[in-house]
Amino acid sequence: MRILIANDDGVYSPGIAALADVAKEFGEVRIVAPDVERSSAGHAITASRPLSIKRTPIQGIDAWRTDGTPADCVALGAFLWEKVDVVLSGINLGSNLGNGIWHSGTLAAAKQAALMGMRGIAFSTPSTESEPQFEVLKPWVRTVLKLLLDAPELQLVNVNLPEKLPRGILWTRQSVRQYDGKVVASKDPYGRANYWFTVVPIEDVEEGTDRWATEQGYVSMTPLRLDLTDNACLKHAAEELSLDKVLFT
Ligand code: MN
Repeated sequence: MRILIANDDGVYSPGIAALADVAKEFGEVRIVAPDVERSSAGHAITASRPLSIKRTPIQGIDAWRTDGTPADCVALGAFLWEKVDVVLSGINLGSNLGNGIWHSGTLAAAKQAALMGMRGIAFSTPSTESEPQFEVLKPWVRTVLKLLLDAPELQLVNVNLPEKLPRGILWTRQSVRQYDGKVVASKDPYGRANYWFTVVPIEDVEEGTDRWATEQGYVSMTPLRLDLTDNACLKHAAEELSLDKVLFT
């Protein structure tokens, strides 16, 4: 099995080294990751200039750094290394839960894989004052990979590991009821206005969601799809909002 690994924290992140260390037990591993941190880059691609790629072996693993986005890394990695079976992204230093996944570069790398007909699995864990305990998380990453790599029908999965030693693994749905993004006004040292686009804690999380599971200490696995169509709205629109009136009156 050919396993391409990307991330959005950059090729030198301890998270990508931890993920590659576990992944190499399951097949041939190659890393292609951004040369600098591209967190919150979302699914941006670089279309206005060419990309460069340079070799950066990591702990004996074949690794490359690019000056592109997480999605670029996957497209480029799959171009240069044919027949990639699965793309793993992460382990991100910071959770990717609920509506936050819209901005996530970590998830975008996995999504890019799914767009290109490969499978994509994103891994994230909270990053607080203390750095994530990757040695503690590795056995759980191994268990998740054993399960997911054996389930080719799951094209795109968002995995979040809890902050402390996990107590188990749960299938979850994406938490979308609340949004944790917030703009906070501040001042620079000269007294000039500036603004932080930051994150606020979410309370009252719904049972069964990704956020709930990780708060309860579980590893959360959310299967995602590329089709964003709201089928209930489409049905309603087709039935109730006649286009005849717009087009022919
Ligand atoms: Mn990141």
